[in-house]
Amino acid sequence: MSIEALLARARPEIRALAPYSSARMESGPAAIHLDANENPLEAPGLAGRGLNRYPDPQPAALVQRLAELYGVAAERLLIGRGSDEAIDLLTRAFCTAGVDSVLISPPTFGMYAVCARVQGAHVLEVPLDARLGFALDADAVSEAIRVQRPKLVYVCTPNNPTGGAASVAAVEAILAAATGIALVVVDEAYAEYAEGPSWATRLAEFPQLAVLRTLSKAWGLAGARLGCLLAAPEIIALLRRIMAPYPLPSPSVEAALRALDPDGQLIARERIRAARMQRDALAHALDRLPGVRRVWPSEANFLAFEVDDADRLWQWLRAAGIVVRNIGRYPGMAGCLRVSVGTPRENARFLDAVAEGLRVFAA
Ligand SMILES: *Cc1c(COP(=O)(O)O)cnc(C)c1O
Repeated sequence: MSIEALLARARPEIRALAPYSSARMESGPAAIHLDANENPLEAPGLAGRGLNRYPDPQPAALVQRLAELYGVAAERLLIGRGSDEAIDLLTRAFCTAGVDSVLISPPTFGMYAVCARVQGAHVLEVPLDARLGFALDADAVSEAIRVQRPKLVYVCTPNNPTGGAASVAAVEAILAAATGIALVVVDEAYAEYAEGPSWATRLAEFPQLAVLRTLSKAWGLAGARLGCLLAAPEIIALLRRIMAPYPLPSPSVEAALRALDPDGQLIARERIRAARMQRDALAHALDRLPGVRRVWPSEANFLAFEVDDADRLWQWLRAAGIVVRNIGRYPGMAGCLRVSVGTPRENARFLDAVAEGLRVFAA
C-alpha cells in the first residue's frame, strides 16, 4: 500500500489545514530574540535554565537520541506529551465525528476509547480471546477491518492490563487486512520488559504501521510526560499540523537527555533486567498462595491475577497502605487485580499482605 492511500483516509479538513506557525518555527537561533513576546529576564532563582524562552517544538538532540534508541530515521519520529498525546493526535487527524471508527481489542488500555469518544468517533470492539490466554483474535479483527473500515486499529503489546504479548503472525495478519483502510497502531509501552524485536524495525515494510513508545515506564520518567509516535514521515508531518506549537516543556527534555545518556542507558538496561526477574519471582510467589486462582503470564512490569474476592482483597491491601488496580470491571477480568512490580521491599510487603488477607478471608 502506498502512503498516499493511507493519507487519503485522514480527515480532509486536516490535510487542507495551514498549520499555526510559531515564532520559534519561523526563526532559527539569533543573538537577540524579540520575536515571541517572551520576558527577556529569567524567573528569580531559575537563572541559566532558559525557562523564559519558548522551547524548541521538537528538540533535535532528543529526536536524534530517541531515533537511535528505537532504530528509526529522525523523520519517522514525533515526540509528544506522553504517548497519550500521540493517541489523541491520531484520533483527531483520522476520525470525523459521528462518521468514523477506531477498533480496539478489550480488555485493553483505556485511552484509545476515551480519545475516540472525545472526538465523537465510534469504538468497535473485538475482544481478546480469554480462552486462549487473552490472545488477539486476528481473524475477527481482520474481518471487522474489511467490513467496518475503521480508521485506526490498536494493538497493545504487551497488553495492559492482561500482560501478554501479541504474536507476530497475528499482527502481520492484521496489517495485511488493514492495507489501504486503517493505520495499525502498535502500542509498545512495555516493550522493554518483553522478549522479541520492536515493531519499529518493520516500519519501512508497512506504511500502514505506527508504533507508540514511551519514557513513562522502563525509563522512569512518567512525570516528564514524554512519549513517541514512530510512523511514516507523512503521518508525522500530518500530526505536526494539529499539535500544540510548544508541546515539550524544556525541563522534561533536559531530564530525558540525562536519562538517555550512555550512563543512563546502562543503568536503565540493568534495572529492566532486574524488574523482569522480580516480575517472574513475584508471579511465582503469588501463584503459590492459597486463594490465588491464577496469575496471567506477563511480559510487562505488572501482573494480573485472579482471587476469590478481589474487591475485599483490594480493600484489605488499601487498609495496609498498598494500592493495586482493581481491574474486575474490564471484560473477561472479573475477580482480577493488577499489581505493578515495585522495589523488592515493596513486592515483599505486597506479598505478605496478600497472603495474610487471603488467610483471614478463608478462615
Ligand atoms: C502507561 C501506558 C502508556 C504510556 O502513556 P504515556 O502517556 O506515555 O505516559 C501507553 N500505553 C499503554 C498501554 C500504557 O499502559
